[in-house]
Amino acid sequence: MADERLIIFTGPSPRGWHRIGMFLECPSKYAWAYEAKEEGTRAPTGPLQEAVPLVRGSLIHLGLAQHYAQVREYQNDGDPDRYYPPEDAMRIVAEAKGGTWASEVDECVQCVHAYFDHYANEDLKVLRVEEAYKGDFGGFPLTGRLDLVVEDRSGKVFVMDHKTTGFLSAKQRTYYSVSGQMHTYRWLAAKEYGERFGGMRVNLIQHTNGFKFARYDLDPAPHMFTNFPRIIKEAEEAILRYRAEGRKPSEWPMAVSELACFHRYGACEFLDKCKWGACWRSGARRRKTPRCATWTGSTGRQRRIPVTRYFGPSTRSRPCAM
Ligand code: SF4
Repeated sequence: MADERLIIFTGPSPRGWHRIGMFLECPSKYAWAYEAKEEGTRAPTGPLQEAVPLVRGSLIHLGLAQHYAQVREYQNDGDPDRYYPPEDAMRIVAEAKGGTWASEVDECVQCVHAYFDHYANEDLKVLRVEEAYKGDFGGFPLTGRLDLVVEDRSGKVFVMDHKTTGFLSAKQRTYYSVSGQMHTYRWLAAKEYGERFGGMRVNLIQHTNGFKFARYDLDPAPHMFTNFPRIIKEAEEAILRYRAEGRKPSEWPMAVSELACFHRYGACEFLDKCKWGACWRSGARRRKTPRCATWTGSTGRQRRIPVTRYFGPSTRSRPCAM
């Protein structure tokens, strides 16, 4: 008989915060990722998906999702065996993806086992696991996949968002309180649960340098929260406006900031396009035309010079012939 046990999908929701967050961070980055159909570069792509912290986060999220789905079955006299046990699910996904996933899975399995031991006596009723919610923000839809929705003994409902980190810090309570993703979840949960909604909790999991765990109620950010629907609406309207103007991705506003262009996981994947022009591409197609680029000197005079005189770009990129 076929194995019909379930592995829960923990990926992004269909129209989530990531899109708007990227636009607010850098409109050009958003345009390359979501509007440049000829490039086929929908985010996220490339090596970022193999970054160790992200892979660890994904595997640990999966382990927790399988665990809490089984807990919910126990609590409702259901069938916990509908779901693969956490470790089995993590190993199946890691083997299917290979690479960093396969090399990181052992450590992640140990981490979730340590988590289960740490919270062996938690007294929470599991309501929902990794379910997508949808809201309307000034006429624009926004969705969010909530990691875990629980109810405490008093009947209050809390959203628990799992956050994996290499280093636990009390500052994370404030750090995440300004996150658009958290505001999205808070709005969606408040709409769904009304008076019963008790708030957002960050479920922090330190996966390196020893396993550590902490849970915080988020610091309040009432001004941001109240203005959140307007922020979404204005961002969506700006996207429609730039699109209607027929701008190419390279013509959308650029952040031009080391904080945006070099985020905490490395360089923005569109860095070469922004530094050198839209004709820069990664890929194997070779040109016979000479490599050159336009350089504007301090006098304002423009010259075309061989690209080998520049320090960039990487060997995977090449210029167009100008
Ligand atoms: S490199 Fe910087 S300016 Fe260019 S898309 Fe990325 S974040 Fe925006």
